[in-house]
Amino acid sequence: MDEVSKKKEYLIDRNGKKYEVVIGLEVHAQVLSESKLFSTSPTKFGAEANTQVSLVDAAFPGMLPVINEFCIKQAIKTGIGLNAKINNKSIFDRKNYFYADLPQGYQISQYKDPIVGEGSVVLDLTSGSKTVGIERLHLEQDAGKSIHDIDPKNTLVDLNRSGVALMEIVSKPDLRSPEEVNAYVKKLRSIMRYLGTCDGNMQEGSLRADVNVSVRKQGEDKYGTRCEIKNVNSIKFMQMAIVHEANRQVDILEEGGKIDQETRLFDTKKNETRSMRSKEDAHDYRYFPDPDLLPLEFDNAYVEKIRKEIPELPDEKKSRFIEKFNLSSYEANILVSDLDTSKYFEEVIKNSDVKNSANWITGELFALLNDKNLEITESPISAKNLSNLINLIKDGTISGKIAKTVFELMSDGDKNPIDVVREKGLEQESNPKELEKLIEKVISENQDKVKEYKSGKEKLFGFFVGQAMKVSGGKANPQLVNEILKKKLK
Ligand code: ADP
Ligand code: MG
Repeated sequence: MDEVSKKKEYLIDRNGKKYEVVIGLEVHAQVLSESKLFSTSPTKFGAEANTQVSLVDAAFPGMLPVINEFCIKQAIKTGIGLNAKINNKSIFDRKNYFYADLPQGYQISQYKDPIVGEGSVVLDLTSGSKTVGIERLHLEQDAGKSIHDIDPKNTLVDLNRSGVALMEIVSKPDLRSPEEVNAYVKKLRSIMRYLGTCDGNMQEGSLRADVNVSVRKQGEDKYGTRCEIKNVNSIKFMQMAIVHEANRQVDILEEGGKIDQETRLFDTKKNETRSMRSKEDAHDYRYFPDPDLLPLEFDNAYVEKIRKEIPELPDEKKSRFIEKFNLSSYEANILVSDLDTSKYFEEVIKNSDVKNSANWITGELFALLNDKNLEITESPISAKNLSNLINLIKDGTISGKIAKTVFELMSDGDKNPIDVVREKGLEQESNPKELEKLIEKVISENQDKVKEYKSGKEKLFGFFVGQAMKVSGGKANPQLVNEILKKKLK
């Protein structure tokens, strides 16, 4: 990165004045769990409507919630992954509001005493790293889903999602640009995927966020009034919503107006935010401890036992890759950001050299996966065969250039590269006699160039190498070609 882009801040310029954008995220992450937070109903995505609903989820009278210990463990794990304080005592409250998709008439959530307190997340930005504060993580139940577009007269309701465990992860207002929001959400997702606590699937709604945005004049200490954009379910939309909302606020301020704290919706089609309701305060929800649930208490030993199950997380893996394998911070970031990619990489380097493995994975393999829209777990080329290919270059069986052709041929059914090479006759030509013949041909066919070269136009050397490679169909050993050419052109 050059110095200019390194220092670039995200500011909005208006009438010669510069505004800074301040962002805080409330991320709702669905706990990866087979059953719901307070019932044994399954949580599978995409099931037929109302087939995963127990009497508890449908809030039949007299039903009592029973806490799912697995979800508690998942929240503690996530808290540990966020370097956060785990609270030995937390309380489930009733948050009272009414929607058709919330049959209880209240949501069981945590308010003053969440299960996880302050923590932090490190972002890897192009300008370097930045630490973002975490305010809290609390557990709550998801609501069902109202469906307005099936029946022309009535709203239908699907309660499959009702009662599914969510972790709400609240950041401090530490984010300053759409780029930082992108890095933040990706980092959270990466940490949770490593931990196995949330699948992070945004298309399926497993990860979505309320985006709080305010603006202030550059250099000002006090935060401006924020607006909260509800329930945004893709990083791209979060970024678009922020740009739009920040500009809207700047326009109001520049016209001498004042920002009303409110809840807004992002219209992805019109690319604008719209007022939904004025901001509700906590007292509007009449929070009180849910009398059906005891305070949640556990001791340090319980937390320490869970801590032992925590795998190596992205930041640690990155440090290890840099120290042990001598990778750049940039390469390490790419390789660790997704757990499966890091596994693939570690598999490849069991048999081949680290630098080449990193290059092939982040270069050719990523391009191929991108092109075919595949995850690395679905890679048409196995780690074993990629390392075989890398080794064929290393031992001189094929040239780096031919390797790209072989790679392409391999992608059609995970073929062993040596079979492809033999089948297509792509072995590198390293026989000096053969190469000499070939080079003599190139020389005799280009006498005029030889003259020029000999009279001092040394740049032409590359031309001869190129011709020799071309005549050999890319198979000549480039190093030998160089050596022989040097001798012949003396
Ligand atoms: P609420 O439930 O009222 O939305 P929370 O405490 O759950 O309150 O979340 C508030 C969110 O708003 C946090 O992510 C916080 O970082 C963010 N936030 C607070 N003040 C500002 C501000 N002035 N500008 C932008 N974001 C803010
Ligand atoms: Mg909020």
